[in-house]
Amino acid sequence: MSAGPAHEPRSMTAAPSLRPNYPPGCQVLFTGAEIRAAVERLAREIKAVYGEQELTVVCVLHGGLIFAADLMRLLDMPVRLGVVLASSYRGTATAPGDLHVQIHPSLDLAGRHVLLLDDILDTGRTLTRLRDDLRALGPASVRLVTLVDKPSRRVVPLQADFCGFSIPDLFIVGYGLDWNERYRNLPDIVALPPGAGAGT
Ligand code: 5GP
Ligand code: MG
Repeated sequence: MSAGPAHEPRSMTAAPSLRPNYPPGCQVLFTGAEIRAAVERLAREIKAVYGEQELTVVCVLHGGLIFAADLMRLLDMPVRLGVVLASSYRGTATAPGDLHVQIHPSLDLAGRHVLLLDDILDTGRTLTRLRDDLRALGPASVRLVTLVDKPSRRVVPLQADFCGFSIPDLFIVGYGLDWNERYRNLPDIVALPPGAGAGT
């Protein structure tokens, strides 16, 4: 599946009138309307693959929450929802640390078509680990959907089956993505200024 056009920093728009709940010095990378268009395209691509088959969306919390909510409502086949917890960023850091995942024992995927959904594919460690853990539960298939891909950061070879946006190495927040548990509620996706929070 195509990831759509790659977005370079020069395409970002400085937004002087941002509300005070936006990070200082940030730049808007994707507006809410652009995100909506990407999610609609993903829904069409997913529909083209699964048709009327039942789908089990497994959302990686917390970052995938808003993307999952919007995408699911654009899918018109029967859809089940499961969640898993994953975290690798700690506090104010913008570089990944140890990966922690939690899969609840009640997650029933045997014989199901699973769509593992995350906010962003970065090094690839999280989704590789989760995909392997979910495969152990006996699903009929597992595919990956990510809203954002940062291919230049990959340390584990992994490609999403469905991808909204491809971006360079920026740290982004909004639309579910956080920095230190903040900014998940922004309707846009914005990039923090380079170096912000790094190593702290
Ligand atoms: P990976 O395991 O692929 O390195 O990282 C995936 C996870 O790291 C994502 O689910 C997300 O939680 C976090 N992450 C990676 N890049 C970013 C980013 O630019 N912004 C935010 N807020 N989280 C990120
Ligand atoms: Mg995440």
